[in-house]
Amino acid sequence: MPHRIRPIEAFNDNYIWLIDDGHDACVVDPGDAAPVMKVINQEQLKLTNILLTHHHHDHVGGVDTLVKAYGSRVWGPAGEVLPHCDQPLFENDEVSLLCPNLTFKVLDIPGHTAGHIAFTGLINRLPVVFCGDTLFAGGCGRIFEGTASQMFDSLNKLAQLPLETRVYCAHEYTLANLKFARAVEPNNTDLIARYEKTLALRHKYLPTLPSTIAIELATNPFLRANKPDVYQSAQQRQAHSSEEPVETFTILRRWKNNF
Ligand SMILES: [Zn+2]
Repeated sequence: MPHRIRPIEAFNDNYIWLIDDGHDACVVDPGDAAPVMKVINQEQLKLTNILLTHHHHDHVGGVDTLVKAYGSRVWGPAGEVLPHCDQPLFENDEVSLLCPNLTFKVLDIPGHTAGHIAFTGLINRLPVVFCGDTLFAGGCGRIFEGTASQMFDSLNKLAQLPLETRVYCAHEYTLANLKFARAVEPNNTDLIARYEKTLALRHKYLPTLPSTIAIELATNPFLRANKPDVYQSAQQRQAHSSEEPVETFTILRRWKNNF
């Protein structure tokens, strides 16, 4: 049976990603246990593994309850303090799960938090990335613990993944992100089309995820700091002497914080 990947909604706009093969399951970033337990119990799945991208409460708040209920094995960033972690992970570590049968590689992507990681791999032969609060559909996470330059490098690392990689981020922020993206690049036709599509999905309360790296490269201003139009917009917002994309990125991130 192919694996299923589904979002479990939590809090206002979090997605807890559930991957299962019909018998065994793993979840990514369970900030809340109750909505996960509801699905696991309803479908009589076995929650064997929990993957964590970073330490924020809305990503790890459900871990203790889930571990107590199901005895799941917890994998998370070695560089962060987590409520529970059986297997601390470093850059390029391999995460091999037996049930469900999945393999991921770990990428260090600091910036949102100092030890933030992503999980990349193949599910049903398609490349996927679970990137927490670093790359969002149409945007990126706030920089809480790292520097703008670290966040810029982390996003570029994700941007190097194969174009067809499915991007599973942890929040439904797409519409607000694309409103900002349109302010940055009003003439980007791919972006306008994506905005309309996103609006239609949200009118029906449907998730706008996963995205793909190709879509992000075409429409996400935080991956487009090297484009002349994006540079010009940043320059208008705040004149800067350097043409380095990281400078443009830094202005965009500050602009978005106040948008
Ligand atoms: Zn976070």
